[in-house]
Amino acid sequence: MTQILIIEDEALIAAFIAKGLKAAGYACFIEATGRGGLKVAEREAIDLVILDIGLPDMSGFTVLERLRGQGVRTPVIILTARSSAADTVAGLTSGADDYMGKPFSFDELLARVRLRLRSAPAEAPHALRHGAVTLDLGTRRVTVSGQEVELSAREFALLETFLRNPGQVLSRERLLSTVWGLDFDPGSNIVDVYVRYLRRKIGAEAVETIRNVGYRLV
Ligand code: CA
Repeated sequence: MTQILIIEDEALIAAFIAKGLKAAGYACFIEATGRGGLKVAEREAIDLVILDIGLPDMSGFTVLERLRGQGVRTPVIILTARSSAADTVAGLTSGADDYMGKPFSFDELLARVRLRLRSAPAEAPHALRHGAVTLDLGTRRVTVSGQEVELSAREFALLETFLRNPGQVLSRERLLSTVWGLDFDPGSNIVDVYVRYLRRKIGAEAVETIRNVGYRLV
């Protein structure tokens, strides 16, 4: 079943959208915060996200940047009361697929949801390969020497970043900002922790440590 994630803090609006989408045959998740939405996007196979901009804990634009930073290519429709041209431009340049100002008609939203869901698979899915590792961006499957390995969304994003920059030394700062969307915190060892997870899954020798600099895909 097609799964839609609604990230919206106004409960009535979220319930209204979910009711309509369920009637149209979609399964819905509702999250009232950016943090909650990102968790669901990481955990569930979401086909489309409807995203509010004014959220209590972070801006919808930040949510969108983090989603894209995690390698999530799911279509995102921004739904917000802020319908100024500047916000539209900000939304579309930060990786949204569509933008709707509130108030909106449900029929129009549904039409856009259907359009985005139809056009999503048409984006030519392609694979990134390096040595024995293949990462399919369309199906989000990763194989090592033909054997499928299960990666979390974050591990997937990390591997994707390495595969997009084969042979290059990637600093912790760069990995942190690309994969986690965070400014560098020199005390954080999250990158090292995730590189360790990744090595366990794709082979310890696949990622080389460059002392005091960062990591490189071998
Ligand atoms: Ca709001």
